[in-house]
Amino acid sequence: MVKTMNKLDMSFSNYGNKVVKSISLLTSIVLFFSGCGSMRQMMGMGKPEKSNPMIRVSLENKKIISIPLEKYLLGVISKEVPADWPLEALKAQAVASRTYAMYRKEHPRDSKFDVSSTTADQVFDKKHQYPAALIQAIQETKGEILTYQGNIFEAFFHSACGGASEKASHVWAGDYPPPLESSHEDPFCSAAPHRDWTYTVSEETLENILKDKNYFLPKDWNIGIDQRDDLGRVQALSIESTAEGKKKNKTVQILNANTLREMVGYSNLHSTLFELSEDDNGIVFTGKGSGHGVGLCQWGAKGQAEEGKNYRDILNFYYPGSDLMPLDQKLIIKETDIEKLEKIESSNTAIQPEPSQPENTQPENLQENTKKEEMKTSKPHNGVEAIISNLPDQK
Ligand SMILES: [Zn+2]
Repeated sequence: MVKTMNKLDMSFSNYGNKVVKSISLLTSIVLFFSGCGSMRQMMGMGKPEKSNPMIRVSLENKKIISIPLEKYLLGVISKEVPADWPLEALKAQAVASRTYAMYRKEHPRDSKFDVSSTTADQVFDKKHQYPAALIQAIQETKGEILTYQGNIFEAFFHSACGGASEKASHVWAGDYPPPLESSHEDPFCSAAPHRDWTYTVSEETLENILKDKNYFLPKDWNIGIDQRDDLGRVQALSIESTAEGKKKNKTVQILNANTLREMVGYSNLHSTLFELSEDDNGIVFTGKGSGHGVGLCQWGAKGQAEEGKNYRDILNFYYPGSDLMPLDQKLIIKETDIEKLEKIESSNTAIQPEPSQPENTQPENLQENTKKEEMKTSKPHNGVEAIISNLPDQK
């Protein structure tokens, strides 16, 4: 039981009073019913596979493999971060990738697999051997995931935010929990390769790109920044007609900044944190950072680790309001469970704990149900489009 209490203490941030109170209540109940088989099952005890479920991975050759979560993570973080980065940064990446994988397992886009091996989800490369540091990062965070109010969320990550994070809802359609809706400054990623970048595109090229995507352009046009967020990230651009006469400078098109990134290429327009100007060669984007800016900033995690921060500090910074907990205990602090337990306490009646939810590894039908909900939005990939190219060569 003591061990259980310690695991609950792993949560590093922002348990509301209600949750703290409920955990205390839960602990009391667990202590009281320490011999209760149902409660033991609810706590994940005696079910080691819960902390290391199978993940179905769609490989680039379309083959689908099913491997244990922790083994899958080795193949992911070996592609996401160099093994010679500080251990605490590797551990932060391991938790983010584990959380993202488990979210996808709960909300698969395809009934046949949970994650793809490309930037559509997380880049994955199965190897026979991995650097010892990566194995250590996985082992020291084994089974740990991030949650918000007991629910796993899409722990997006990116290469470098350029000094300002981004809200998920500014990048993709849908509703996101507070840990993904944080907009904050980040002074830790200044060493990133694409901290500063410039992309110049001729008017003719940009015009062709836009027209190919069915954007209407007047004969004479100009592009400008229509809207920024508080930290300077461009939300929307405007295309205006520059024709002489009454319609001069009339805005004819509003263009989402992230849509523009997708159209011109993520490796060209590295981020939405940019200024716009013009020179003899065309339209000049001068920006900072690389990637969508949501969630964990990989280069920022490296910078924080080098300053002595541990992986919990790092995750708390990039996913504020989230909780770190063992995967096999995730179910017990869901709000619904907490409310049930509070009712039990107030009525002082015999406890009838809810049975554990079924393992996601088994029921295809369960995943089908969640998939329908997921597919209503055009969900992103994890937005790791530029990460690999930005990182130093891996050893
Ligand atoms: Zn950053």
